[in-house]
This record gives sequence, C-alpha cells and structure tokens, in this order.
Amino acid sequence: MFCKHCGAEMNEFQAVCLNCGVKKGDGMRFCAYCGKEPAMYARFCNNCGAPTGIKPPAPAKDPNYLAGNEMLLIALLCFFVGGFGVHNFVMGENKKGAAKLILTFCGLISCGITTIACAVITLIEFVNILTDKYVVNTEKWF
Ligand SMILES: [Zn+2]
Ligand SMILES: [Zn+2]
Repeated sequence: MFCKHCGAEMNEFQAVCLNCGVKKGDGMRFCAYCGKEPAMYARFCNNCGAPTGIKPPAPAKDPNYLAGNEMLLIALLCFFVGGFGVHNFVMGENKKGAAKLILTFCGLISCGITTIACAVITLIEFVNILTDKYVVNTEKWF
C-alpha cells in the first residue's frame, strides 16, 4: 500500500500518510499498489496495471450544439415567441435576442419590414434547431 499523494509506503492500518499527512486514498499522483507514478488521469497504473480509481475527465460536450432533450423546448419557443428572441435568451444568446426585439419593435416605424426580416431569421433558426444544425453563438447578433 502506497500513499497516492506522495508515493511513500504505508501499512494497511495507517489512516494518514506519515510522510505527507494526506488521508489514505487521497491524492492522484501515485499508484496505491506499487507506489509508481501513473500517467496523469491514467485509469490503470502504467507500471502494475491496477485501477487507479481516477475518473478520466468527462469529454467536454460540444457547446455549439443544442442538447437533444432541450431541442424541442427551444424549437417551440422559437416558433411561438421567437420574434421576441425568447429562445435566444434561453440559450444565453443575449445579443441575438436583443437584435430580434429591436427588429420586431422597429416594425412599428418601418411598416413591418424589420418585423418580417426578424420573422425570416427566426424561421431559419427554427428549421436549424429542428434539424440539429443550429449553432449556439453568444457573440453573434444574427
Ligand atoms: Zn504521502
Ligand atoms: Zn501500480
């Protein structure tokens, strides 16, 4: 039994490492079975093959695409209240949401031209959301 923090040898009855004071089983640098240093985040010791108990970091989810379970909700928001950018705000795309609000309300002074433009943009987004092509981008305005 070895300290996983500093690699010093420990007996089974020790609760903490006498060398570094770390609790038994804490630390993630050294293999508890052979005391050698497994590669960072290795799930198995590269010296003795014992499982290290280290969970590999979860693969980062692609932030650009909508999670499947939220897709329907976002699509519905986009369809019914998309002209007010509600679906954009829900996804954290405040700029796109604000742009839609401006376009929609500018329709009052542009005889609805900007409102129609907003509706077209929203419709394109709606289709992209449903076909899983929509890319979430919090920096863009459109
Ligand atoms: Zn130690
Ligand atoms: Zn080992």
